[in-house]
Amino acid sequence: MSKSKYQNVSTISMTVKHCSQCQQQFGCGAGTGNCWCMSFPPIMAPTIEQDCFCPSCLGEAINNRIESLVEDNGMESFQRLAEPYRNQSKLIQNVDFTIEDGLHVFSKWYLIKQGKCCNNGCSNCPY
Ligand SMILES: [Zn+2]
Repeated sequence: MSKSKYQNVSTISMTVKHCSQCQQQFGCGAGTGNCWCMSFPPIMAPTIEQDCFCPSCLGEAINNRIESLVEDNGMESFQRLAEPYRNQSKLIQNVDFTIEDGLHVFSKWYLIKQGKCCNNGCSNCPY
């Protein structure tokens, strides 16, 4: 236990892990109750515990999973799951968008969160 009350929050007990997909090193805050993955959609949770991914691989895995979830359960039930996240102001790279050729491309997750088609011809449009 640290004696200092003024320890920088970002350095508190982040566990160093290696991504099971790309082997990249990343910090996991699971033990602190405050990990970056908590702002991610909760659809990969059972896998996260056994098998941690770095933020970019996890975002990619989530968006791949969305496709099969929508296929299995239908768009409407998935939209209900996504709705509480609609007003999340902070967009997360690889979860809400990816950067392709220097351009921001909204992900399926982001577009489903919006609840309807924006008619902008998004390349990931799920509607
Ligand atoms: Zn990774």
